[in-house]
Amino acid sequence: EVVTRFAPSPTGALHIGGARTALFNWLFARGRGGKFLLRIEDTDRARSTPENEQAILDGLTWLGLDWDGPPTSQAAGADRHAEVARGLLAKGKAFKCFSTQDEIEAFRAHEKSAGRSTLFRSPWRDIPEAQHPDKPHVIRLRVARDGETTVQDEVQGAITWKNDQIDDLVLLRSDGSPVYMLAVVVDDHDMGVTHVIRGDDHMANAIRQTLIYEAMGWHVPVMAHIPLIFGPDGKKLSKRHGATGAAEYQAMGYPAAGMRNYLARLGWSHGDDEFFTDSQAREWFDLGGIGKSPARFDVKKLENLCGQHIAVADDAALLQEAADYIVAAGRTPLTEAQRDGLGRAMYCLKERAKTFPELIEKAHFVLTSRPIEPDEKAARQLDTVSRGMLSDLTPHLQTASWTREDLEAKVAGVAEAHGLGLGKIAGPLRAALAGRSVSPSVFDMMLVLGRDETVARLTDAV
Ligand code: GLU
Repeated sequence: EVVTRFAPSPTGALHIGGARTALFNWLFARGRGGKFLLRIEDTDRARSTPENEQAILDGLTWLGLDWDGPPTSQAAGADRHAEVARGLLAKGKAFKCFSTQDEIEAFRAHEKSAGRSTLFRSPWRDIPEAQHPDKPHVIRLRVARDGETTVQDEVQGAITWKNDQIDDLVLLRSDGSPVYMLAVVVDDHDMGVTHVIRGDDHMANAIRQTLIYEAMGWHVPVMAHIPLIFGPDGKKLSKRHGATGAAEYQAMGYPAAGMRNYLARLGWSHGDDEFFTDSQAREWFDLGGIGKSPARFDVKKLENLCGQHIAVADDAALLQEAADYIVAAGRTPLTEAQRDGLGRAMYCLKERAKTFPELIEKAHFVLTSRPIEPDEKAARQLDTVSRGMLSDLTPHLQTASWTREDLEAKVAGVAEAHGLGLGKIAGPLRAALAGRSVSPSVFDMMLVLGRDETVARLTDAV
């Protein structure tokens, strides 16, 4: 069974890069009937906060990336991590090192001045236990001095390091606390993780982690280190490029499905496919499709995909997501009547909206109620001539059969009688019905509003 995990450090909110890592792990597991686990890497007690942890869970929830079982805490496993380090010590795969920080620095300075590598070589590596002082010490991994270590990465290919270029890394600090490198290996092993998919900033760690796996005689999971995300200028994505937090995109009203689609395409491809559904993504996602070079974040592409996802979304689901967005954005929640109107109008609202704010702006005509307060631009449309046209149109609407064809014919007839084009009557009609210049077509509005409401709004305007 495939088991993947997302292992965020709660030292900040969920950013775009983390969201993409989580998505890749989720797609890989879900596409193979596997498990997707969540581990909170909260060993940095000073910088980890419950608020950040909650923000990460909220971000994943918004994106629809559900995880299996409760999230686990890395810090809670400290005893188990220490036990593994002591097990390695007992097997001679690790050793106690009594060197102080000052001694290590002196060693490095000396090697440097002699023009040699400054990798620390502990004098305690081969001193037998009987000669050990009763003093604070760290536990270090005994890394072979010859040979090499290879990580067979699914994205980067084979990455090989000569063992004599790796130091005897610390596993347990002098206060008995395990280091991060050890904790990751033990947790991944204990959680049964089969595939580690994460940012390529962890590539160097992967070599050291492999050494720990090997020392324990554990199976090394499949590794896939994905290139970081760049901004449009080819530099690492950062605040300078705009919003970097998942929550910011949620607040801007991008639909989760569009965001998932966009993030999936950020560094992974499936032929020329840009737009795809969740089930296609789950079916298609594979490690082989992950690119070797950094993807560039492109808001235009994100918007384009979001627009396509809104256009094809199920009306009821979209209504719910719009209602949720309104609440999350701190706006007044929809009334029953507004929900009803929005639901009926959804078919024409979703055509060209890329975000929920855009969709809601277009929906003003069903969210508002009589008397319609025209904004400045709309008010300018309602001059004396226009009012005359609307007044002529009203009796025709009273008798119209309320099909799109008939409504179009009635409106065109009045425009013609006034010797004007259709556009000249559509503007004032829009102003009377919506009080805005942004709205669906006047015919869609009339169809959604129905005869009584349409006639009432026109009569108000006249
Ligand atoms: N906690 C690490 C991070 O936030 C991830 C470690 C891992 O995936 O192995 O970057």
